[in-house]
Parts: sequence; structure tokens; C-alpha cells
Amino acid sequence: MNKNIFEKIRDGEEKADIVYKDDYITAFKDIDPNAPVHILIIPNKKIESLNDIQEEDSSYLSNILLGAKKIAKQFNIDQSGYRLITNCGSDGGQEVQYLHFHLVGGLKLGKMISLSKSEKKKFNELKSLQNK
Ligand code: AMP
Repeated sequence: MNKNIFEKIRDGEEKADIVYKDDYITAFKDIDPNAPVHILIIPNKKIESLNDIQEEDSSYLSNILLGAKKIAKQFNIDQSGYRLITNCGSDGGQEVQYLHFHLVGGLKLGKMISLSKSEKKKFNELKSLQNK
């Protein structure tokens, strides 16, 4: 089977700015950052998305959180604060089919969810219908 971009980065077959690696996770700089610090953390085991995690993956998942903490300290944002995000599926905006967590920080992050005006209008309409 063809490897996707994150599998190739994990295996050292595609160039990336790797900032941290251990037995469980690989972390590298996002190629198109949205913040001064924007790191992607992946488990070394290929898992497509949060929908696909299994009980036996728990050591990979816990090491993602422990790794995020270490990397935040490495980039000096542990005290100022940061956000850890995973996108799942189409509505979540997942583009790469390999579970990954965005660690972002280095500036004041805006609202957690930013909807376009039309999406917000649709959402408010739906809410008012449900309240009737
Ligand atoms: P998502 O939309 O959550 O699937 O995020 C995918 C992320 O991968 C995006 O932020 C991209 O900028 C990033 N990305 C795609 N290709 C690469 C690459 N070769 N190296 C580093 N980051 C990448």
C-alpha cells in the first residue's frame, strides 16, 4: 500500500523539520503554520483518525499528551499557554488521514471555533427551531 505523507515523514522518507521523536511519537513543524509555534504530533503507529483508536493504542495516546507537554516546554510556551487540537473527518476539517495533533501557541489564540458568518447564521436558525 502507498504511504501517505505523514507515514513517509515518520519513516524518514520525506523531509520534515522533526523537533521530537521517541518510541511512541514523532513531532515535526507544520509546513504551513498558523501560529509562531505550530507542531504536528503523530503516533508512530499508523492510525487514520480519532475514530480508529483502539484500547491497545492507549500507550501511543498517552505519549502524545506527555510529548505535547515536553514540546511546549521545549518551545517555551508552557507558561504562556497553548492549544492541542485534532481534526476528525470531513466536518472536523481533517486533510491528512493519519491521526495527528496540532500543538499551537506563541500568540493569543482566538476563539476555539470560528464559524463563517453564513455557517453561524445556519447554526443560530437551527438552534431557534429546536427551542420552539
Ligand atoms: P489537518 O487539516 O488537521 O488534517 O492538518 C493537516 C496539516 O498537515 C496541515 O496543517 C498542513 O499544513 C500539514 N502538512 C501537510 N503536509 C505537510 C508536510 N509535508 N510537512 C508538514 N506539515 C504538513
